[in-house]
Amino acid sequence: MAAARANRNGANLRTSASFKSKLPPSNVRRSGVAVDSVSGRVRVAVRLRPQNTEELVADADFADCVDLQPELKRLKLRKNNWDSDTYEFDEVLTEFASQKRVYEVVAKPVVESVLEGYNGTVMAYGQTGTGKTYTVGRLGDEDTSARGIMVRAMEDILANISPETDSISVSFLQLYMESIQDLLNPANDNISIVEDQKTGDVSLPGATVCEIRDQQSFIQLLRLGEAHRIAANTKLNTESSRSHALLMVHVKKSVVDRDEFCLEAQNRSIGTLRPPILRKGKLIVVDLAGSERIHKSGSEGHMLEEAKSINLSLSSLGKCINEEKTKCQMDYMESIKKLEEKWTINQQKHAINAEINNGAGDEKVAELKRLLQDEVCLRKAAEDEIQKIKNQLYRFSKMELAGRNSDGFSIHQVLEEESCQKKKLEEEVRVLRSQLAQISIEAHQVRSYPDGSNSANPLLGLDSLEPLNQMRSRDCDNGERASITNLHEQVGLQKILSLLQSEDANVQIHAVKVVANLAAEEGNQEKIVEAGGLTSLLMLLRTYDDETIRRIAAGAIANLAMNEANQELIMAQGGICLLAMTATDAEDPQTLRMVAGAIANLCGNDKLQMRLRSEGGIKALLGMVRCRHPDVLSQVARGIANFAKCESRASSQGSRHGRSLLIDDGALPWIVQNANSEASLIRRHVELALCHLAQHEVNVKDMISGGALWELVRISRDCSREDIRALARRTLTSSSTFQSELRRLRIEV
Ligand code: ADP
Ligand code: MG
Repeated sequence: MAAARANRNGANLRTSASFKSKLPPSNVRRSGVAVDSVSGRVRVAVRLRPQNTEELVADADFADCVDLQPELKRLKLRKNNWDSDTYEFDEVLTEFASQKRVYEVVAKPVVESVLEGYNGTVMAYGQTGTGKTYTVGRLGDEDTSARGIMVRAMEDILANISPETDSISVSFLQLYMESIQDLLNPANDNISIVEDQKTGDVSLPGATVCEIRDQQSFIQLLRLGEAHRIAANTKLNTESSRSHALLMVHVKKSVVDRDEFCLEAQNRSIGTLRPPILRKGKLIVVDLAGSERIHKSGSEGHMLEEAKSINLSLSSLGKCINEEKTKCQMDYMESIKKLEEKWTINQQKHAINAEINNGAGDEKVAELKRLLQDEVCLRKAAEDEIQKIKNQLYRFSKMELAGRNSDGFSIHQVLEEESCQKKKLEEEVRVLRSQLAQISIEAHQVRSYPDGSNSANPLLGLDSLEPLNQMRSRDCDNGERASITNLHEQVGLQKILSLLQSEDANVQIHAVKVVANLAAEEGNQEKIVEAGGLTSLLMLLRTYDDETIRRIAAGAIANLAMNEANQELIMAQGGICLLAMTATDAEDPQTLRMVAGAIANLCGNDKLQMRLRSEGGIKALLGMVRCRHPDVLSQVARGIANFAKCESRASSQGSRHGRSLLIDDGALPWIVQNANSEASLIRRHVELALCHLAQHEVNVKDMISGGALWELVRISRDCSREDIRALARRTLTSSSTFQSELRRLRIEV
């Protein structure tokens, strides 16, 4: 049994109860361990006693190898650092569990069933010294909280009977080496066990039975029994821990039941007398002998015989429990089987029901189908009728027309002309489409130009200009490649711009690509804006969720924003707000790069500084650093450098006072962080921005507290560009605040 291994310092308690008169003989034989009054099985609890003084002094480490998990009702025994065995119990009682709690959890339910006429047993099991006697046999003379199970059980029984009608009698015995001694009368040392062949009831006719009237007499009896036990063991030359001690409590309780009262009254009225009903229950509390193993106890001779006998009785007990367990398992399996059968039957019933329902459903469907068929016929008839009326109407109007206009052919002519016009227009659309496709190819070429020539054009290198396959035209196959300018001349800018509002999304995308590419050439920019292209592009930013269109539109705006006059127009048309909005919504780094590029261009306009800032341009720029793409970051850095340059210029000219708007909008931490960026383009822009900011005394304090001084010192020493290096050095030496800080830090520039 699993529990047997946990007993270096724990005692096990087994409890059971059985209903004497209802069980067949075979069951009565194991009444001692048979049935739990509640669930019909043996319940096993484990109790761990606290370390005693000796163990504490010896610094024994059992706390390390026994791990109680009371909430899981588990005990874990650690074998070594990486392995442990886990045992489950009905109750797990820790070293902090009180005697009261142990009684209530383990024994009280058994005592209650004994009072209802069942037989119940509580057994303490475990190695010597683990606390069996403490748990079941403590009298609690000095300290009532220490009372054990025997004393508490008697208290409960006494409290639940009435002395006039009921009775309690007690026997106290010791079982040693297969023989039973009477602990209430030591002379009686070989009591025989008698089993009633008919009822299976086990009795000990030779044992002393004492009536119990009150708790006091019971305690005296227990004390007497204990004294006799010591004496008997001295005589037998053994210790009390080598024998089993059994307390048997017989309870006879007359039943006071309402129904029975009524019956009695009835019986009396018809003159027959019924004997009063008596409920008999038996409680057995056993303090078992130590369970230590033979080979571990080092027993020899007499001691060996004794140990064998103890272990024989313990293994019989184990067998009983196992048998009971098997029975419970069988019962369990049986109920599962029954449930499964029920379930199958239910399933079948359900299936039949479903079939019946389905059948009903089929009928309904057929009915509906018929109705539908009727409806279809009716509709067809109605349609035919309408067609007939239409034909009549047509003939009638033709006759009327012929009557009014003698030359019926003229209408026909007008119609023909219209259709001719339509064909022409369609042809024109086709040509335009193929030309658009060509432009895309051109754009492809533009993309492959080296970047260095025009760093303000973020659109160069744009990878979204691949021509769509279905737009590839016959003209293209002929190898005849019109340039953007050619197309522009052939088709006219106005027409291209009008395509920006096309219903066809494909046409729109291509049109915006063409416009973006045209916008990249300085010569076209003015024309595009004049023809209303800027407004159309801004409109696209405002109305489109499509990321491709927004990206290209932003690119085109960025190109247009290279031109100073256009910058003002973009601002006037609310472009900053639209760009800021796109900056917040977009996720694609290329879109962000276009937007950042457009704003960066606007940042370089002296006239627009205040407005750019108040409409959220700087914040939008800084917001885009969330995308760590170096292309986006370098546009952001360019914008900041442009802005710082304009601010610095205005401050030098005296047209502007106060701290930098960049610092106000919280750009400094990002600037400091990126001053030494690994990307040379970003680093160069940021270094320039720092030098511009540092030239104005109003910014110096914030720059020092923000850590910019270190960066300036570094720039003044290591910057690869001679001019920037000199600028940084000049800046640091010309500011008195920087100077004093440098002195304080003992840094020389
Ligand atoms: P067993 O009957 O199993 O041989 P005992 O009941 O004689 O063991 O207990 C051995 C020692 O441990 C005794 O000194 C007893 O007082 C002490 N002891 C046992 N259980 C507890 C407990 N829960 N709290 C305090 N002391 C205990
Ligand atoms: Mg003991």
